[in-house]
Parts: sequence; C-alpha cells; structure tokens
Amino acid sequence: MLTKDEIKAKALEIGFADAGVAGVEPFTSQLDFIDIDDRYKWTEKLGINLKAGLDPHNTLENSRSLIVLLFSYYNYSIPLPLEKHYGRCYLNDDRVTKDGLAVMVKQFRSFLRDNGVNTKLGAGMPDKLSAMRAGIGTSGKNTLLYASKSAGKSSFVFPVVVVTDAELEPDTSTVENGCPDWCRNACIAACPTKALTGNGRIEPSRCISYLTYYGKEVTPRELREPMGLYIYGCDRCQNVCPRNISWITADKNTSTRFDRMSEDFAPEKVLLMNQEYFEKKIWPFMFYMSYKQAWRWRMNAARAMGNTGEKKYIPYLIKAFDDFDDERVRIMIAWSLGKLGGDEAISALKRYSVNAEGELKEEIKLALSVN
Ligand code: SF4
Ligand code: SF4
Repeated sequence: MLTKDEIKAKALEIGFADAGVAGVEPFTSQLDFIDIDDRYKWTEKLGINLKAGLDPHNTLENSRSLIVLLFSYYNYSIPLPLEKHYGRCYLNDDRVTKDGLAVMVKQFRSFLRDNGVNTKLGAGMPDKLSAMRAGIGTSGKNTLLYASKSAGKSSFVFPVVVVTDAELEPDTSTVENGCPDWCRNACIAACPTKALTGNGRIEPSRCISYLTYYGKEVTPRELREPMGLYIYGCDRCQNVCPRNISWITADKNTSTRFDRMSEDFAPEKVLLMNQEYFEKKIWPFMFYMSYKQAWRWRMNAARAMGNTGEKKYIPYLIKAFDDFDDERVRIMIAWSLGKLGGDEAISALKRYSVNAEGELKEEIKLALSVN
C-alpha cells in the first residue's frame, strides 16, 4: 500500500506544485454559498451540479480520501501584449488541447491505479475548499485560493481534486483567510465592476471574466470603460494583491506557447478572424464561446481597442465595421471610434450614420457628440 509521502513525492515529481490529503466529509458549509439567491444558477446550464459535488461519495461511492494537487499556471513570463488582454489562468487551460495539466493528471492517476488505488476526478466539487482542507492553501478576500508553500504563495494556482478509495491520514487543514491585516482590501477597492462584495464573496455575473464570455448582448455603456483592456478574463484583483507581488515580479523563463498566443490573440486578429482562424487558433485555448458567439469576441476586442487610446486600431475597426454586419459589434466599434477620435474615426462615423438605424444610429450620434 502506498504511503502518503510516496503519493506526494510522485505528485511533485510529475510537476505539481504541491499536494495534500483531506477527508471525505461532505462540504455542507458550501450550501450557504450555493443557495444565495440565483447567483450560481448559471452553472446548471453548463451541466455542473454544485450540490451533488458537495459530497465526495457522489463522485466515488466508496471514497475514503481526497488528494488535492496544486497546478501552478504562471511559471513562465507572459508577453505584455497578451497579459494585458487575457486572464492568465486561461492561457494555460488545456481542457481541449490536453497537452499540459491533463497529461500530468493522467500520469498521477495511472500511478495510483497501478498501485491499487481507485480514483475519480472531483469535477463540480468545491476545489478551493478541498485544497484548504488538505492544508495546501488559504483563501483571499478576492475569493481566490492562495498556495501555502508553492508558487510564491500566490493565487496563480489551480487545485485538482482526486477522490480516492485509499485510506490516508488527512493533513492539517488551513481553512482560513490568509490576508494580512494591513492590506486594506486592495482587491475589493480595485475591482472595476464591484463584483467583490466583501467577506470573500463575489457576484459572478458582475465579474469581468464572466462578462467577457457569458455577458448578454451589447456590453452596457457604464461597463465599457471599467472592463478596460480585457478581452477574455480579468486579473485585476490578483494584480493589485500584495500576496502576489513577489510571484508576479519573480524571474521566469519565456515560453514558446505564450509567444505564439501573443501573436494569435492580438486584438486586431480576434476582431477580424474568420471561422477557420477561430477554430484553429482561438477555440482550442479559450473555448467558452463557440463561433456562433464570435460577435462577443469581436465586441470585446473592439471595446478593448477603444480603451487603449491607440489610434493604430482605427483602420482595423473600420474594416471590421465593413466586414461584419452584427449590430452588437458595430455598436461597440462606433463607441470605440468615438473614444479614439481623430479625423479618420470621425469621417468613418459620419459615413456610417447615413444608413444606420435604431440603437446603432444612437451610438454613432453619441460617438460623434464627444468629438
Ligand atoms: S476578476 Fe476582475 S472583475 Fe472579477 S472580481 Fe477580480 S477584479 Fe473584479
Ligand atoms: S488584495 Fe489584500 S484583501 Fe485582497 S486578497 Fe490580496 S491581501 Fe487579501
């Protein structure tokens, strides 16, 4: 029978940043979170049953221990042109490509299986709480998990919950908030859309990450500036956190994956992509939207361009207005051209106003009025 130390040593050898063991008691304390109004109802549409996930026995009937693995996703430097538009955790999400974390998890589970341990992945389980129960992280007021020992004790980690039938001694739990008293809630103050509501709680539908891939229709005017340069995801509450500073500024090697993504995910390429480009270069890495929702990608890219204040984007915005007739995209292009201003943008807006109707006409009028 494998010992806990042997299992942890294997996890580190495979490349996980840390590993801990927790018991399989149901996570009843989470019921309070799940049941808050309709805050997490959207997860049902994704086929995630949060309530069932609270009891590990629903995942593996004869479960006896949880092994929680920590994957550090920010080990390589990320080119600024990429980092400023995309949340870091999405740059290393291999749920489609299966060429990173998936390989490591498979290797780990094979090791356990070869040693007589049955496992199931705890999809839908409270992974952050599992990691804290397993003693490998604490929480932050921005709702994120912070590593206790690895990854510079930062929040740039994914917990992976492996439910097992092995009887292992649980580690000492660290279910607590690890924020220093002297931090005056920098994350809460910095959240541009007021998604963080205090006490480690979040209103997901106000979070920029959610809005970039699940936002309904045209991004409301009052959110366009706060959403800033982000096209997919948001890291603002992590960037301002003093618990992350040492890892953000640590020397890291470059990675060919991020260099390639920096080229492929440039805002102008996203704005003007066709279906083939989307399917080859975008979707395998960021897959929460299908090509049917390419309008949202384009709208986000157009909004981000407007917020850069960089006039170099004007020709791309004009081309996109001509190439795509989705009104939501055109509305955002008009807004961005208005923000960027200048002769080229104004003359394009005037040209568009001739045939525009309804909401688009109104947006163009507003864009012209600020110039
Ligand atoms: S990810 Fe961005 S929008 Fe979401 S809570 Fe953090 S700062 Fe706010
Ligand atoms: S910014 Fe401050 S309050 Fe927020 S998670 Fe970091 S340390 Fe905690």
